[in-house]
Amino acid sequence: MTGQMTAEELELTSSYVDPYPGRKGRERIVETCGSCGGTGVYSAPSKITFYTSAVHDVTTGCFSCAGTGARSFLVSSARQTARRRAQEADRTRRTAARIARARAAFMASHGAVHEALAEKHALLRHTDPIRGRIGLLLQAAEESHAGDLDVDEWRVAAEAALDDLANREEAKRPVPTGRVEIEADVLSTKWVESKYGGSLKMLLSGAGWKAWGTVPRSLDFNGRPARGHRVALTATIEVSVDDEAFGFFSRPTRARIVTAPPVSEED
Ligand SMILES: [Zn+2]
Repeated sequence: MTGQMTAEELELTSSYVDPYPGRKGRERIVETCGSCGGTGVYSAPSKITFYTSAVHDVTTGCFSCAGTGARSFLVSSARQTARRRAQEADRTRRTAARIARARAAFMASHGAVHEALAEKHALLRHTDPIRGRIGLLLQAAEESHAGDLDVDEWRVAAEAALDDLANREEAKRPVPTGRVEIEADVLSTKWVESKYGGSLKMLLSGAGWKAWGTVPRSLDFNGRPARGHRVALTATIEVSVDDEAFGFFSRPTRARIVTAPPVSEED
């Protein structure tokens, strides 16, 4: 192997090197035992003793050479072992090269979109459904070298996710703050434990903003899930530090249901 080789040449080259060049396959090689350094004695504490020819006595002998201090083998079997190891190494190297080539090809065409997805993925909240979509796209790209990814479909889905995200950002409006009357849809509810016993919280979705707070006792959903109801209430809203479209409401009063979702079969 001389000079620089191309990736393809590297992929095709075998890394096999004859361990005993010029020797005949039937020749026997005798080597000092690598495990005991030729002493024939096992170096770590052991209770197993046997006649150890290297010391002409019963002692804790080396298992690798059976206490002879030497190992002998045929040149042909050493070559066989070397060939098998070289094949394993070559297989691993070829797989790695194939993956690297496929990834480079993918990135050459879709690197910018991939980078945009990765950036958004790092910024979005863990519970964000668009983050989930982006996560799946990034994972699919990661496995694109396996060959079962429709790259055109991936590209369309990736751009759709980025568009949806941009549209959502566009539609965001600052949450109203102070003591205000609001009307909003219940997106979800969650029981939150506290040292005072816990309370039912809800996430409200208004016109371009969201707010989180305690469900007022006066709100009666008639035993149905709160999700999908449109409610009106007066509350004090404080804006979140990292998102002007997100707020926390407290001390809700005059709460009422504006519209209830249609009754479905699951209700
Ligand atoms: Zn040994």
